[in-house]
Amino acid sequence: MNTPTPAYDKLRTELREIGILSSIGSLLGWDQQVMLPEAGNPYRAGQMEFLAKLIHERSTSGKLGDLIAAAEAEAGGLDRHSDAAVVARDARRGYDRETKLPGELVAEMAKTEVLGHQAWVEARKNSSYASFKPWLAKWLDLKKQEIACVGYKDHPYDALLDRYEPYETAAGVTKVFESLRDELVSLVQKIAGSSKKAPIEIMERSYDVKAQEAFGRLAAEAIGFDFTAGRLDVSVHPFCSGQGQGDTRMTTRYHENHFNDAFFGVLHETGHALYEQGLQKEKYLGEALGDSVSLGIHESQSRMWENLVGRSRAFWKFFMPKARNSFPQTLNGVTDDQWYAATNAVQPSLIRVEADEMTYNLHILIRFEMETALTSGQLGVDDVPAAWNEKYKKYLGITPPNDAKGCLQDVHWSAGLMGYFPTYTLGNLYAAQFYDQATKDIPDLEQQFASGNFKPLLGWLRENIHQHGRRYSARELVKRITGTELSAQPLLNYLRGKASEVYGV
Ligand code: ZN
Repeated sequence: MNTPTPAYDKLRTELREIGILSSIGSLLGWDQQVMLPEAGNPYRAGQMEFLAKLIHERSTSGKLGDLIAAAEAEAGGLDRHSDAAVVARDARRGYDRETKLPGELVAEMAKTEVLGHQAWVEARKNSSYASFKPWLAKWLDLKKQEIACVGYKDHPYDALLDRYEPYETAAGVTKVFESLRDELVSLVQKIAGSSKKAPIEIMERSYDVKAQEAFGRLAAEAIGFDFTAGRLDVSVHPFCSGQGQGDTRMTTRYHENHFNDAFFGVLHETGHALYEQGLQKEKYLGEALGDSVSLGIHESQSRMWENLVGRSRAFWKFFMPKARNSFPQTLNGVTDDQWYAATNAVQPSLIRVEADEMTYNLHILIRFEMETALTSGQLGVDDVPAAWNEKYKKYLGITPPNDAKGCLQDVHWSAGLMGYFPTYTLGNLYAAQFYDQATKDIPDLEQQFASGNFKPLLGWLRENIHQHGRRYSARELVKRITGTELSAQPLLNYLRGKASEVYGV
C-alpha cells in the first residue's frame, strides 16, 4: 500500500516495545486471576504498579512525541488508510490522551480505583447507596476534570466514551439507542403477555461440571479456537486476554445448576479469543494494525458467536446429539424445540449480567441514559437510586427491591469506568449487522453450521474484520462491510424473529 519510511520504522520499534511491556502486564493480570496464591497479592500489586509506571513513562515520553511528529510529517501526503498514516494517527491519538492528563489526576484516579472499589463491595453487601454515594460523587468530579483535560465537541460524555469506542459520540449512540429502545420495550411487553412460556427450568437442572468443561472445550475448538495457541481456565470473573502471538487465554466458571453460565460464557470468550487470534500481532504488536478496533467491535465478535451462532437452530442441530451424550440423564426427554426455546428464553430481570440477549440491551440503555445525565449535570448523585428504579419500571416493568439489586450492582462506577457500558450494546448492534452481511455473502452459512463447519464464518470475519486491526474506525468498518451506517434494524429484525418463533408474538 505504501513504502515504509525511516521515521515510521522508528515509531513502530518504540510502539512495539511499549506493546511488549503491556503484554507482560496482561500476563501478570491473567496470573493474578487464575493462578496466584492469595498471599502473593500485595507483591503482585507492587509488580503491576511498577510496570504500569514504566508503561506510562514510555507512552508519554518526549521521545515518543518526537517520533510521532516525524512519522506524521512523513505520512502527510498518504492515503488516510495507508499503514503509515493509520499508525501515526493512532499513536497521536493515544499519546495526546495520555499526555493531556496531569500526573496528579492519574495518581488520584488510581488511588480512587482501589478505595472506591472497596467502598463499593461494602456498600453492595449492605445494600447501602448512602455509603457509596460520596465515591460516586468523587468519581464524577475526577471524570469532569478528565473531560476538561481531554476536551470534547458536543457533549462532555464524548470525552469518556472515546476512550473505549474511538470516534463515537453521545449523540451518535443516542440516535441508534433510541430507535432500539421503544421497539424493544414493546417486544418485551408482548413476550410477557404471551401464553407461550419457555421451559427455562431445563437450564437449571444438574449438569455434571466435568462434562460441562469437556463440552465447552469441544464447542470452542469446533468454532475455531486454537488450543495450541491458547488456554481455557477457571476464574471468578470470566475474561479473555491476548498476550501476544500464539498466546490467547480465556477463562470461565462452572455452576452445576446453571448450564447457560459456563457454556454461553465459553462461546462468548471464544468469540473474543478468535478475534485476538486473528489479529496480526507478530507483525504489528503495539501498533494500530495489530490491535482491535474498539470495545464495541470486540464485543461484536463475542456476541456473534455466543448469540447469533450459539443460540441458533443450526448450531444445535450439530451440537444437540453431543449434548445428549454429555448429559444423558439431564437431557432425557428434552426435545430440540424445548431446548431451543430454553436457550432463547426472554424474561425481564434485575441483574444485567444474568439478562437474556433481548432485555440485556435495556439494562445498557438505562446505564447510558444515567451516565449522560450525570456527566451533563442533569442528574445529581442524590437522585441516582430513584432515577434508576424509575427507568427499570418504565423499560422492564420491574422495580428493584433494594439498591444492591439496583444501582449498586455493577462494578464499573466504582472503578471510574464511565463511558464503557454503551460498548456492550454497540457490540450487539454491530454483531447483527455483520452477521446479516455474512449470511448474504455465504448463503449456505447455517447449513454449514448444522454439519459442524464453522470455518466459512470464521474465514469471513478474519478477512473482513480481524486482519485489518484498527485500520478503520468502527463506523467505517460497518459501512465498508455492509454498505450501511450503524443501525438498530438488523438487531431488531433478529430479535423479532426469535420472539415470534419462541413466543409466537
Ligand atoms: Zn465480552
